[in-house]
Amino acid sequence: VKPEDVSCPVCAAPPGSLTIEMALQVPQLGTWSLAGAQLKTPARWAPHLSCSSCLAESWGSMDSDGHHATFPALVPKEPPS
Ligand SMILES: [Zn+2]
Repeated sequence: VKPEDVSCPVCAAPPGSLTIEMALQVPQLGTWSLAGAQLKTPARWAPHLSCSSCLAESWGSMDSDGHHATFPALVPKEPPS
């Protein structure tokens, strides 16, 4: 199943609303560490699935074959407080 062929499981946006891209996954800012004048934080490239309609997102992981990505369920975007 291609992401462009399915509707969003969160907001039921029509097919085409879901996009997958490789994005740099970084932890929350609170976990950054200061070393001298430099900021250092762990980061890794990971497949990112997101809905352009409701902004729900999911971080996936590459399968060991390097050709498939597995995504957990989409997480609805927290409304701004
Ligand atoms: Zn959605």
